[in-house]
Amino acid sequence: MSKKNRTRTELDSEARDLLQPLLERKQAGEKPGPKDRCAIPAQEMPAQDPAARGKNMGEVALGYTENQARLESERCLSCKNEPCVKGCPVGVPIPRFIAEIQKGDFKAAVDIIKETNLLPAVCGRVCPQEKQCQLECTLGKILKDTEKAVAIGRLERFTADWEREQGKVTVPPVKKSTGKKIAVIGSGPAGLTVAADAAREGHEVTIFEAFHKPGGVMVYGIPEFRLPKAIVNAEVENLKKMGVKIETNYLVGRTRTVGDFLSEDHFDAVFIGVGAGLPKFLGCPGENLVGVFSANEYLTRANLMKAYDAEKAATPMFKSKIAAVIGGGNVAMDAARMALRLGAEQVHVIYRRTRGEMPARAEEIEHAMEEGIIFNFLRNPNRFTGDDRGRVTGMELQKFELGEADASGRRSPVGIAGSEYVFDCDTVIVALGNESNPLISRTTAGLSTDKRGRILVNGEQKTSIERVYAGGDIVLGAATVILAMGEGRRAAAAINALLLR
Ligand code: FAD
Ligand code: SF4
Repeated sequence: MSKKNRTRTELDSEARDLLQPLLERKQAGEKPGPKDRCAIPAQEMPAQDPAARGKNMGEVALGYTENQARLESERCLSCKNEPCVKGCPVGVPIPRFIAEIQKGDFKAAVDIIKETNLLPAVCGRVCPQEKQCQLECTLGKILKDTEKAVAIGRLERFTADWEREQGKVTVPPVKKSTGKKIAVIGSGPAGLTVAADAAREGHEVTIFEAFHKPGGVMVYGIPEFRLPKAIVNAEVENLKKMGVKIETNYLVGRTRTVGDFLSEDHFDAVFIGVGAGLPKFLGCPGENLVGVFSANEYLTRANLMKAYDAEKAATPMFKSKIAAVIGGGNVAMDAARMALRLGAEQVHVIYRRTRGEMPARAEEIEHAMEEGIIFNFLRNPNRFTGDDRGRVTGMELQKFELGEADASGRRSPVGIAGSEYVFDCDTVIVALGNESNPLISRTTAGLSTDKRGRILVNGEQKTSIERVYAGGDIVLGAATVILAMGEGRRAAAAINALLLR
């Protein structure tokens, strides 16, 4: 049987058979050397069967068992120079937490991660580890394969899930009230991190969120099958236990402005973490036809409004036979896999370059391919076509080839003249990325932004306005959860220093 088809129980018993003798040898005083550790097989992530999972919203990756986690942890070489830590944007003490897993002390392991990372259950699932900590891992380098690096993200996820499932999550202690008030705008990873770090110092924190549920992209963008919403909700509940107030359905820039917060509402500091929620479009004819969506709208309907649950949801979902997703990033993979789960008979990804240039995580591309998503490389639409009722019926696709490499070494796609052809579909999802929503900058006098609307900050995340800080995608452009959290951490440290003066 191929490795991919093995069940979680089979993977667990295989891990146990290798782990037990190793632990016995360690108990007898033997210390496994680098050669022994390199010989331990990399532990496969158990996953739902591809045929079944394309029809349900359940999480695809099922998580390591205890035996798998302990065996995987034994692969770590405890490198003195800690290259993996240098690859982590928030500097999680990786060898230290892995050493606790080796001892079987999972609570100690997760507590170490939480010293620098507030959301390990989220990051263990969605961080691009293969481009960060695991890219730098010595074991991966020795074995000449990043995929064989220590599975740091999976171990991180294991410890955080273990803590939650065992009911061992502890709410961080909060210092005596300082009487200072902080307004946090946006409840994505940046805003949640600022709220936690500022609340710990005893400040009174209120989060203002435009949507009816907190969590940012983690709840409205990243689908349930990759990041169960219960995990984000549990983190939000912890914040509430720390005394953080959350005002939902509150659109700053309309309901109140940043200026109002500072003057009339007497907040001592404001953090802007509103993300990059404005979808980019192709700007080609036919983009306004019924059945052409931005990935943002499509995913928000499905995730946040639970449109996939036909019995309970008030939000209607567009029924598709043939769905085409334009783009090659993580958002495109999420939209394509969501369209499949919402019942499309065929889902196509249309991408101007080749698989090698796709910005999406390798694991997500692989999962999408396993589920039957059809990839059309070196193609791009020139226009969308519709029927007399204004509904999309397809698109004119042009073939592309790869031309010269740019400064970053990425080869640009060049259209082949005369290669156009008609592609039939009844749904189009445009997933070309997101940029900044200008609402806050337009309603905040004196707030400096760059040409793309990203808020300009100094090294402490301070904006051009006194007592106003910003971080996450609204500063970086569409980036990642861990980078947003890192900015949140820095902003909170600066706010805490300002208010404790
Ligand atoms: P956001 O998460 O965008 O949160 C901003 C919040 O502010 C939102 O809740 C929004 O409603 C609220 N808001 C906006 N304007 C206002 C206003 N005026 N008033 C009040 N509230 C407001 N990253 C990864 O690391 N791994 C992944 O696998 C991954 N997959 C992704 C998949 C999708 C579909 C998308 C869209 C993004 C993905 N990302 C991924 C990127 C990642 O989610 C973001 O980089 C991250 O969430 C940014 O965090 P943030 O706190 O800056 O903003
Ligand atoms: Fe362990 Fe890899 Fe980090 Fe070395 S680089 S300490 S092997 S995780």
